[in-house]
Amino acid sequence: MPEKSRLKNIAVYSFFALPPALFLLVLWILSVNTSLFHSLGQIILMIIIATGILFLSGWLIYNYVFRKYEAPAELIYKVISDIKSGDFKPLPKDANLEEFSLLYQELTGLENAILSNNKTVASLNQKNKAMDELFQISLDPTTDPIIVLDTKSQLKYLNPAAEAISGIRKSNANGRRIDQFVRFYNKNNVEIPPSLYLTPSKDNASNKIFFSSEVRIISAINIQSFADVSVFKVAEGADIDVLAVILFHDKTKEKQLEAMKLDFVSMAAHELRTPLTSIKGYISVFLNENEKILTPDQLMFVRRINTSTQQLAGLVENLLSVARVERGALSLHTQVIDWVANVNSQVDTFLHRADEKRITLSFIKPEKPIPKVDVDLVRINEVLNNLISNALSYTEPLGKIDISINTKDDMVITCVKDSGKGIPPEALTKLFTKFFRVSGGAAEQASKGNGLGLYLSKAIVELHHGKIWAESEGAGKGSIFCFSLPAVKETIDLNILTKSL
Ligand code: ADP
Repeated sequence: MPEKSRLKNIAVYSFFALPPALFLLVLWILSVNTSLFHSLGQIILMIIIATGILFLSGWLIYNYVFRKYEAPAELIYKVISDIKSGDFKPLPKDANLEEFSLLYQELTGLENAILSNNKTVASLNQKNKAMDELFQISLDPTTDPIIVLDTKSQLKYLNPAAEAISGIRKSNANGRRIDQFVRFYNKNNVEIPPSLYLTPSKDNASNKIFFSSEVRIISAINIQSFADVSVFKVAEGADIDVLAVILFHDKTKEKQLEAMKLDFVSMAAHELRTPLTSIKGYISVFLNENEKILTPDQLMFVRRINTSTQQLAGLVENLLSVARVERGALSLHTQVIDWVANVNSQVDTFLHRADEKRITLSFIKPEKPIPKVDVDLVRINEVLNNLISNALSYTEPLGKIDISINTKDDMVITCVKDSGKGIPPEALTKLFTKFFRVSGGAAEQASKGNGLGLYLSKAIVELHHGKIWAESEGAGKGSIFCFSLPAVKETIDLNILTKSL
């Protein structure tokens, strides 16, 4: 500041010395041309007087005009630099500020506001730190993994359980993006990218922006675990540098146990399959050869043995299919087929059983043309047969079953509607889970099924990229089971087109 002030003074003096210097120059020119001043002494005297006038006028102007402004300006400069360095002290009350006093007052107010703001920010920072610590302390003993991401999708915090699934220590994870230490895969083994689980959908107003069950988690060092993953967005998270909190409900142990059960069940089913096939074969040969010579009682027993063996063989096949579904090993061999013709012929195979039970089984021919579908015929007929067979099993004699086909939004929808015993609302959501059978009628149903049919049907339909659902107005009011399959888009045969042109 003093350096600056001196420079300014020189500038001010010089500026105001300019008019007198010009005056001096004019005089000198006149003296030379008009012979007004002849002696050197006169010229020197002239210079001395002019220089005196020059400094005197500069000094007068500076003192009476600029000092009035410069002093307060310097004060304000000082105030601002003090505010910047955080070392502001109020000026003495008698400081001569004149018209700058208002500005100075404003600056004082600003300074006070900044000081109190700084205090608030400091206390907020402390509170944030305390909250952060509290958060970490409370989450550390949680056995489920928790990961907190900062606004750059980088790891801000992970608890010891999350360290275990990611194989990464909290201390060396900072600054890494989430997908650099854990990757998520869905049930179909397709990777779930961070853009999917960290971006809230437009219509989602809640904090929970993502949920997926049984996600396979693979860490950077190849640790595999399973968990239900929920992602929560923190509303004002940007203020505390938090983008999202990822909660995991660890299912690794359950999965391992399930895999062991599955191994055991499929091993047992495989072992049972061979002897069962020969029992089935021998019974059918025995029945064919001896039907006529057996007494009615003997015939009844052998037929019961035959039925039970068929059921047991069905269960063994279902268990093997379940094992395949759970391992993701159920594969499809698809072909494009005329769906209406296929459903019609499948319904025909049940007419005899429906007649026996005195149930009216009808296939309602669709009014509009139905597109073709691309399906694994064996697998998809398992679904259709299971639904028709269930409708026949759970409908009383003299009841009615209608099978219909429709289209909606590029999907072909097939429905089996019966006037049977219906399904209570609380059971509707569980129908498609493994081994589920509607309670109450378990004893009565015991001989009929194993609660795997709908579970397998769902898996097969979903493999075809379709959906399966059930509706019922309640017990005794009949039910309707439908499944959808993607319609095959009609391709225009160019040969036919050119011929017709
Ligand atoms: P199940 O071999 O027992 O039939 P499913 O998985 O095919 O196994 O069916 C599960 C349960 O759903 C059945 O036990 C039955 O209680 C109920 N259910 C299925 N279809 C019908 C239906 N059409 N009417 C009433 N209940 C049904």
